[in-house]
Amino acid sequence: MMNNKKIWLSSPHMGSTELLNIQEAFNTNWISPMGPHVDGFESDLVEFTGVPYAAALSSGTAALHLALIILGITPGDEVLCQSLTFSASANPIVYVGSKPVFVDSEKDSWNMCPESLEKAIVERLKVGSKPKAIIVVHLYGMPANMSDIMSVAAKYEIPVIEDAAEALGSTYNGKACGSFGTMSVLSFNGNKIITTSGGGALLSDNDGHIKKARFLATQARDEAPHYQHSQIGYNYRMSNICAGIGRGQMEVLHQRVAQRRKNFERYKDAFNTIKGISFQTENVLSRSNRWLSAVLVDPKTAGCTREDIRLALAAQNIESRPLWKPMHLQPVFQHSPYYGGNVSEELFNNGLCLPSGSNLEDEDLERVVNVIYGCLSV
Ligand SMILES: *Cc1c(COP(=O)(O)O)cnc(C)c1O
Repeated sequence: MMNNKKIWLSSPHMGSTELLNIQEAFNTNWISPMGPHVDGFESDLVEFTGVPYAAALSSGTAALHLALIILGITPGDEVLCQSLTFSASANPIVYVGSKPVFVDSEKDSWNMCPESLEKAIVERLKVGSKPKAIIVVHLYGMPANMSDIMSVAAKYEIPVIEDAAEALGSTYNGKACGSFGTMSVLSFNGNKIITTSGGGALLSDNDGHIKKARFLATQARDEAPHYQHSQIGYNYRMSNICAGIGRGQMEVLHQRVAQRRKNFERYKDAFNTIKGISFQTENVLSRSNRWLSAVLVDPKTAGCTREDIRLALAAQNIESRPLWKPMHLQPVFQHSPYYGGNVSEELFNNGLCLPSGSNLEDEDLERVVNVIYGCLSV
C-alpha cells in the first residue's frame, strides 16, 4: 500500500516536560502574563545564549517592534533591512512610521551582503538620510556574515537589530546567534525550531533596554496605585502558560538542533553529486541549526524547476515551500529603496525549502528524496 501520510514542512515537536509545566501553572494559578515560568524561561534564554538580559514576549514581531521603539526610531527615519526574509522582519519598521531600505543577499549564506549594506549606507548619506538601524536576519538558521556586517555597522555607528527568529541554536565564531546585535529577536512560533505555541523574546546586554521592553510590553504603567500612563504601551508580554511550554522545549533544544542537522545531512548525501542542486553553505565561522533545509535548483542542469519539484511533492502529500519572496519584490514595499543586484531574486526563483521537522522519520525523508529523484534528469 502506498504510504501517503502527510509530511509537513516543520511541525511542532513537544518534549516530555511541557505538559507538566502547564499543569504546574494551573495548580498554582499562575495563568497570567507573569509568573515563575516567565522568569525561568528568561533565565534559560540568558543561560543558553550568553546574552545577559532577556524579555519573554508574545511574538518575535512584537520583539522587533519594541526594539525599534527602544532605539528611538520615529516617523520619517530610515531602517536598513535584509530583503530576503519573512515579512515580519520588515513590517515593524512601518509600525513605527519609518521607512524600510532593503539590502540584497550574498550567495553563500543567503543573508545580507556586507558590500551592498555599505553601498546602501553611502547612498543614503548622499541624499542626507542616515539610516537609524540595520535589521540582519539569519535565514533558515544560517548565520549571516556577522564579522563584516558588524564592522560596517561600527564604521557608520548604526545599531544592529539581529533577527535571530530562525536561528536559536546556531553559532557564529563560537558565539550564539542572538548575541551580536545591540538587541536581538527570537521567535517561538509554532513552526520554529522550538515553540511556545506562539511567542518571542528580546535579548540585549543592555539592562535598561530590556527593562524598557518589559515596561512597554505591559501597557507602560507608571508607578502609582491607580493606572497612570505617560507613554503609549503595548500588550506584548508572554503568558506563564506559554513560558512553561518554552521551559520544556529548552530542555530538548540541543536534540532538536541535532535532529535538524541530521535531516540536512540526509538531503546533502542524496543530492550532493547531482548537477543543478546546491545548498546554503556554512563557512569556518558559521554553524547553522538547519531550521529548514533548502535546495537551489538550477533548471538548466537539473532538468526541472523548483516548481516542478514542489508540485511533485504536493501530489504525494508532502509540503515544501519556495524561499521567502524578497521584500523589495513585494507589492506592499514596491516604492521602498533597494540596494544590491539580483542575488535574492535568483534565490527566490530557484530555491525550495524541504520538509525539515525534528520529528521526521527516516522513511519520511526517504519519500521526499525519492520524489525529487523522480523529477531530476539523472
Ligand atoms: C518567524 C519570524 C519572525 C516573527 O516571529 P513571530 O513570532 O512569528 O512573530 C520574524 N523574523 C523572521 C525571520 C521569522 O522567521
